[in-house]
Order: sequence, then structure tokens, then C-alpha cells
Amino acid sequence: MASISGRLPLSQLNQSIMNIKTITVVGGGTMGNGIAHVAAMSGLQVNLVDISAAQLEKAYATIEKNLGRMVSKEKITAAQQREALARILTSTDLRKAASESDLIIEAINENFELKRKIFETADASAPAHAILASNTSSISITKLAAVTNRPDRVIGMHFFNPVPVMKLVEIVCGYETSQEVYEQIKLLSEVMGKTPVEVQDFPGFVSNRVLMPMINEAIFCVYEGVATPEAVDSVMKLGMAHPMGPLRLADFIGLDVCLAIMNVLYEGFKDPKYRPCPLLVKMVDAGKLGDKTGQGFYTYEK
Ligand code: NAD
Repeated sequence: MASISGRLPLSQLNQSIMNIKTITVVGGGTMGNGIAHVAAMSGLQVNLVDISAAQLEKAYATIEKNLGRMVSKEKITAAQQREALARILTSTDLRKAASESDLIIEAINENFELKRKIFETADASAPAHAILASNTSSISITKLAAVTNRPDRVIGMHFFNPVPVMKLVEIVCGYETSQEVYEQIKLLSEVMGKTPVEVQDFPGFVSNRVLMPMINEAIFCVYEGVATPEAVDSVMKLGMAHPMGPLRLADFIGLDVCLAIMNVLYEGFKDPKYRPCPLLVKMVDAGKLGDKTGQGFYTYEK
């Protein structure tokens, strides 16, 4: 029988998934705390690792608060909240955490050199059977896999924000990802209450390859004076039934993140259709990054 959260208890799962019991989530930011929350609710033991002890405290408090909200809404019981929290250990020691894990999910900043170091350390420390996954939005899984000695056991697990709410996990198979690893991660995603969709490792995968050019084109509409940000967003909300207009969404994601992803598409495909709009570049240069700085296409209270 499914639990109150709609997920299967770990004890009832197919034997093959039992290979993944303990996971390490690297990075306790926006995505990392959401992934740790959902994994712990699914019955997994979670090591949440960050370079910053203060960030770990913040992440744990966020998970506690978000689970508390689910208790208030009667989606889970107070006992389930306590049990899930008890399954999360925080640490700044990646080597130790990785050495006890069946799966490491990296969710640190979107920077290849930083991620490379995590993958090298995790590869050197984790048991041979462990899977190394990245939550990257746009960096090549194949390139990350190539810095390890287990490229067949490296995969993309692209969750969406906010992780406890959004159903999709884009599973990104690198050049050498094995079928067995894909099957395990697919099953695990389902155990975590998500809907996995398999994609191959090309720039932007599917999600950002489709979404970002739309956002970029919306910015071109403003840049060329076709319409105001409010008008562009109204067209897409009222005419295309988008829950949020593309410029509001760009502010929410962060204009720096949007620009970084457009650059990955542009450099990856060498196709001018992915050139970032000059207005996007200028706004990022000016530090107008959206919600996080209080100013983007719209103004926000900090
Ligand atoms: P974030 O800035 O909120 O968090 C990053 C965390 O990583 C911080 O807590 C930081 O202290 C930690 N960190 C940095 N270097 C580290 C290291 N060497 N070891 C351990 N921890 C380290 O970032 P985020 O928004 O959670 O994004 C994380 C990843 O998820 C990125 O690859 C991003 O592209 C991807 N992603 C983000 C979103 C989103 O909407 N925010 C959606 C999907 C995917």
C-alpha cells in the first residue's frame, strides 16, 4: 500500500532498487535541500554535504519547515516528518559521506570546474558500485563522466524547482551511461514520487533547449520594442495558457542562469539561433538578475 505521501515504502520495492539505500547530496542550496527532502521522505538515508556549515544549518531548517508545512496540510503525519528528518545527516566531509553511499547526487553551482572536483573526489571515495549523478541544468554529463574512472556509472538527474512539488526528473544518459544505471535511476526517481523522462546528452537536454530560446525570444521582443514585459507575459499567459509569463519566469530562474544556459546552447550547437539577446547580456552586466537581486524585468521586495 502506498504511504500517505503517495510513495512506496522502501521495504516494498523491487530488489534491484534495494542497491540504493544511502545517498549523498552534494550542495545544500535551493536544489540540494529539495532533493534531500524528497529522498528522506522516500525512506533513503541521506548525507547532505556542503562546503559551508552555515548553509547546511539553513538547508536543514528549510527542510524542517517545508515538511512542517506538509504536516499542517495533512499530507504527511508528524511522525513521518520526524522519521524523514532523522534520516538526514549533514556533513562538510564529502569523502566520508561518499564512501558510505550507493548514489551521489551533485547539486552545487553550475560551473564545470567546481563540478569536476566533486566528481573526481566522489569517484575516488565512493564504493565501486556507486552511481554518480549530477543535477546540472546544462553541463555535459559525458564531460563530467570523463573525469571519472566509471563513466558507465555517471548519469544526469535533472530535478526541477521546487523539488518537493515538481514532478519531472529529466534523466540524462551520457555517452557511456549503462542501461543498468539508467534503469536503477529511473526506478529510484519513481520511488521518489517523480515522473522520469529519458533524454540524451546534448546541450540544454530537452527542458532548457526548448524553454530558454523561448525566454530569449521574449527578451528580444522587449529589446526590439515589440511589447513591454507585462504585455509579452500577458500574451503567453492568456493566449498560450502558460501559468507564468516567460519574463516573470526568467526573473524567477535568475537572468545570470538564463544567460549561462543560452551560452551553453550557443557554444554547443554553434548555431546563431541560440545567440543570447544583447538586452539579457546587458541586464546581467548591470547586476539586474531578477528575484534574487530585487530587480529584473520586474521589481521585487527583497
Ligand atoms: P545554489 O547556489 O542554491 O546552491 C549551491 C550550493 O552548493 C551552495 O549551498 C554552495 O555552498 C554549495 N557548494 C558550492 N561548492 C561546493 C563544494 N565544492 N562542495 C559542496 N558544496 C558546494 O544552487 P542551486 O540553484 O541549488 O543549483 C544547483 C545545481 O542545480 C546547478 O547545477 C543548477 O544548474 C541546477 N539546477 C538549478 C535549478 C534552479 O531552479 N535553481 C533547477 C534545476 C537544476
